[in-house]
Order: sequence, then structure tokens, then C-alpha cells
Amino acid sequence: MKDMDPQGLYEALGVQPSATAKEIKSAFWRLAQQTHQDMSGAKSASKFHEVSKAYDVLNDFVRRAEYDGLQYQKAVPEPELQYEVINPISCSRCGSVTPQPRYVAFSRVYSFLFWTTCSPSEGIFCASCARREGLKSSFITMLAGWWAAPWGIPYSVVSIVRNGFGGKRDRKLDEEMLWHNAVAFLTRGNFLLSYALAVPSKRARDKGIVECAAILIERLEEKGIGRYRPHLKDPWRLSVGTVSTHLFMAFSVPGIIVAFFVADSMSRRASFESYSLPQTALLERAPSVVTPYVPNCTIPVQNGKILGGRLWTSEVGHELEIYNGSKVDAIIKLRDAVSGVLVSAFFVARGQTAQLSGIPDGQYKVQYAFGTQLALGCQGFADTIGAGEMPSAKFLVTDISGTQPATTKLVYRIAKTPATGDREISPLTISPEEFSRP
Ligand SMILES: [Zn+2]
Repeated sequence: MKDMDPQGLYEALGVQPSATAKEIKSAFWRLAQQTHQDMSGAKSASKFHEVSKAYDVLNDFVRRAEYDGLQYQKAVPEPELQYEVINPISCSRCGSVTPQPRYVAFSRVYSFLFWTTCSPSEGIFCASCARREGLKSSFITMLAGWWAAPWGIPYSVVSIVRNGFGGKRDRKLDEEMLWHNAVAFLTRGNFLLSYALAVPSKRARDKGIVECAAILIERLEEKGIGRYRPHLKDPWRLSVGTVSTHLFMAFSVPGIIVAFFVADSMSRRASFESYSLPQTALLERAPSVVTPYVPNCTIPVQNGKILGGRLWTSEVGHELEIYNGSKVDAIIKLRDAVSGVLVSAFFVARGQTAQLSGIPDGQYKVQYAFGTQLALGCQGFADTIGAGEMPSAKFLVTDISGTQPATTKLVYRIAKTPATGDREISPLTISPEEFSRP
């Protein structure tokens, strides 16, 4: 017992050297409560000090493994001699003896709004407990890790991918535990297993372990163990299934989030376009796909070209200026507000400004339509994709009270939100039929 517990730490907690982490924890809490209740003064304090000192070491996986290996680390017992049996290291989760234990830390990410934290889930594991622990940590991260800016997503992806590839390891500690087990199985008379563990120990980074492992192998070979060529399967080998499960967890949530934002921005763009054109644009666009073929205008049409109307221009007249801020061409129609008769129609190319001048006094309404192709005859669009009308009729009256006649200049910007001057106005929607009336 003393060899397995050189400083009496297990004894102080009243547990066996093979105790699981859980058993050690509950033993500590039980003792801590007892010393508090049963004793008083200095005696209680010193007992408590002893218990908590033992607990400090044994509750820490790394320090416990170091403590367990303390006596045997670099000593090579003779296979012939009878040694006190040493316990091999057992898994801190399931408590079962595992020939090839490893220290592994998996990370779990929790985040909320602007707060992200990474907490490790660590221990000395057998391979199957480690696999389970890794999946659990990644799953928790998948549920709780994403929800903060800006670090939630990158931390979660990195953590889950790292968990998938075996978590964070401590190679030096792993080598020490392997060597400890090689010696432990030797003291238990399991020479084959001892030999099998000594073989990988010969590849350790620690020179002391390498030397001792070489001696142990030599002695076991002298006993004829070598001819069985014992070797262990590596239970820690990464499996495609496990890695891909982690990778799926790593990228499923960001994938969904990205897909959501892409879909959202696409629907935003669509709604932006529907704002830029009158409502009929949406209604008309769908049927425009099935409208019969209309031959197009083959002559290039200049910006500002008059396409029709009966306007007789006067020398002193009013002006209409249109800036076409959209990405398609436009036709502007000036109609008599009362009769609806077309006074003038002119073409405003995309992104251009065009004027109509010499408009005589009268009451007018201004209509517009968008399209990309002029139809045969070059007077209207083959593909009208929306038409509108400025909301109120305009009285254009020449003011002759001053020294010079004062005329009006109407300025409109068509596209997103038509505006006259600084005042924003909403156009009325009209049908393409109404727009194309002569
Ligand atoms: Zn286990």
C-alpha cells in the first residue's frame, strides 16, 4: 500500500489508489464536513489542511498521474522478482483500467450577445470515454457557442474541429502514463501487456523513459516474451465517422446562419426593387414573360428624343426636367390634365437627364414608364416594367407681372422615390395600358 501511496495522500482521503475522480471528490466533501463538525480548534485545522492538500493533488488529473507514477517512473523492476502490485492508471470517467490512458482536454464554448467563453472539459480518459466526451463538448458548443458577436462563431468552429481531431493533449504526460502502465502490468505478472506498452515507450521524448523501456524490453525478451510479438491496437485512432460528425456540427449552424442571411439579403434586394417601381411592376413583370414576341425598335434612340405628342412649343414656355435615376430606360409623357390627350412623349436613357422646353401654359400631368427595349416604331417599350404618374396635376402659368415673363421649371427624379425639388412625393401607379394611350 505504501508503494502505491508514497505520501499517504489516498490514505488521507480514505480511498483506494484506484479510486475514480468522483469517489475522490465525494470523499473530500464528506471529510471536509466531518472535520468541521467533529473537531474544533487547531486539531480540526491541521486535519483539514492534510485532507485538502491531498485533495489538491488527487483532484488534478495531471498532478495525480505524476503522483501515481512517482515511485516507478524511471525504475525498471526485474521481471523475476516479486513486486508489490502496482495499479495501472484508470479512466477518470468510467473508472476502468485502461492500458493506454490519455490526458485530453475538450473545449466547450458558451456565448451570449457579446460574451463568449471557452471552458475545458478535461481528464484522463479511456478512448471510448474520450470519444463520448468529445462529442458531448462539441454538441454543447453547437447549441450554446454561436450566439455572440464577434467571437462566437470562430471560437465554436475552431473548438469543434479541434474536438473532432482528438482535443488538446499533453504528450509528455501521456508518455509518462504509458510507461507507468508498462511497469504496473509487469508487477501484476502480465508480461505480454507490459512488453506491448514498453514498445511505444521506446519512442517517448523523455530520454529516461526511452532508456528504461529499452532495458525492460531486453529483459522481457530474455524471458522469451518477444517471440509473441505482442502489440496493442491503437484505440485512439481517429475514425472517419467521429471526425465527420464533429465537422458536421462545426459547420451546420454557421451554414444555416449564412444561408439565412443570404436569403434575407436577397429578399431585401427584391423588395428594394419593388419600391423603385410602381406596384404594377410586380404584377406586370410576371405576365411579361409570357407576352407574345414584340418586334423591337432597331434605330438607336438618343436621350431626350421626342417620341410623339402634339406639343406646339412656344418661345416663352415652361420646362420639364427629368433625371432617370434607375437602371433602365424611361419614357416620359406629358398629358393634358383634363382631356388626357398626349402633349408630348420623350425618352430618358438610364442614369441620364432630359428636358422638354417651351411648354405652353396649361394644366398637365406627368407620367412615366420604365423598360429596356423600345418596340417597333420606337414610340413605346416592348417590355414595360412599370408605369406611374406624378400625384397632382400641375398648373403652369406664365407670370407676366414682372419685367420679364417668369415660367416654371418642373424637376423630377424618377426611380426609387420621385421628388420635385426637395419635396418627396410618391407617384401613383398606373397600368401600362393607361400609359400607352395616345
Ligand atoms: Zn472510460
